[in-house]
Amino acid sequence: MSQLNSETHPEIRDSIRALCADFPGEYWRAKDRGKEYPTEFVNALTEAGFLAVLIPEEYGGSGLGISESAAILEEIQKSGCNGGACHAQMYTMGTVLRHGSDEQKAQYLPKIASGDLRLQAFGVTEPTSGTDTSRIRTTAKRDGDDYVINGQKVWTSRAEHSDLMLLLARTAPRDAGPKPHDGMSVFLVDMQIAKGQGLTIKPLPAMMNHAATEVFFDDLRIPAASLIGIEGKGFRYILDGMNAERILIAAESIGDSRWFIKKATDYANERRVFDRPIGQNQGVQFPIARNYAETEAAALMVEKAITLFDAGEPCGAEANMAKMLASEASWASANTCLQTFGGFGFAEEYDIERKFRETRLYQVAPISTNLILSYIAEHVLKLPRSY
Ligand SMILES: Cc1cc2nc3c(=O)[nH]c(=O)nc-3n(C[C@H](O)[C@H](O)[C@H](O)COP(=O)(O)OP(=O)(O)OC[C@H]3O[C@@H](n4cnc5c(N)ncnc54)[C@H](O)[C@@H]3O)c2cc1C
Repeated sequence: MSQLNSETHPEIRDSIRALCADFPGEYWRAKDRGKEYPTEFVNALTEAGFLAVLIPEEYGGSGLGISESAAILEEIQKSGCNGGACHAQMYTMGTVLRHGSDEQKAQYLPKIASGDLRLQAFGVTEPTSGTDTSRIRTTAKRDGDDYVINGQKVWTSRAEHSDLMLLLARTAPRDAGPKPHDGMSVFLVDMQIAKGQGLTIKPLPAMMNHAATEVFFDDLRIPAASLIGIEGKGFRYILDGMNAERILIAAESIGDSRWFIKKATDYANERRVFDRPIGQNQGVQFPIARNYAETEAAALMVEKAITLFDAGEPCGAEANMAKMLASEASWASANTCLQTFGGFGFAEEYDIERKFRETRLYQVAPISTNLILSYIAEHVLKLPRSY
């Protein structure tokens, strides 16, 4: 099968495929059943340096771009593994890299690059604010040399498997500044110190094995030095990292989609019903062919967003479109794959039902499709803001 996007970084892709071969379907099924974190897989990626590709060489990373990171994540998903367990270790540090002080960068980035510290918890979403981040209620109040944090986050992925959390909290009320998004600040919270001192993490069992949690802050004291950048400017810092996140999630979705298409195609060729391969029926082959066309089109948008991002050009529209199109393509491919397998698609042993659940997430997180459409309508088409 020709794969336009697969031409990028063939050596990286070969290494990822070799690494993923040690983590077959049985491994992921067992983790999924037990809702366990895939520690061995994450350790293998860490030791091979794949989670540190975006960290500059001076801090111990490989200093590569989004293009290489996207190839890694796409290939992980295409191999049937789940990069959602650790993808945030790649890009969450971007906020520290771009907006942290020299001391913060020197203190944290080398340890994040080596994997001694995991920074893969990102606390933005709250139960009451929804997508309207300006209404978060978690507060950070300055008290001497500390900030005191109170509030709650929900859906904080991997908090139990991260040493550090990038936290967005209000340091000034919503109506205090000229814009609703003013007055929010970003903190790097050392969760190992904070646990039991005002920080409580509770698992939030979900449809897929994503190590989701709720995080509670009850008079948690953190050093004032945990503040990243300037107080009150945190939302802008978070926004800066969102294009990278969207492009990488899009690359994962392309990987998922290609996994489903290959699975469906192989099965359609092998499975014989009415004395012929089911793939001989147009009712079976057309949906797979459509998924292929849609996936290749989405992959081109991902490539466009990557090219702009790595050139330092604005890419908000392309990153959003890439994420929307790729997640929709992967979901359509998942649905076709399940249908192609008939009853066997529902059996755990084929991994389809697991990947089906996993890939569905990306139409909701890290941003839902409607909000992407609103972004395109407002910022690209210049239609009135709808909310
Ligand atoms: C497994 C999982 C892991 C996650 N990990 C993290 C994480 O690590 N860190 C983190 O901070 N968050 C995380 N999230 C949260 C995720 O980013 C949010 O769920 C997502 O952004 C949607 O926000 P919400 O759930 O509050 O939905 P809501 O904002 O309540 O929206 C509900 C529905 O209404 C629609 N809607 C809302 N407003 C509008 C509008 N104006 N126009 C049209 N439609 C609208 C939305 O599109 C959505 O379909 C995770 C979520 C899940 C499920």
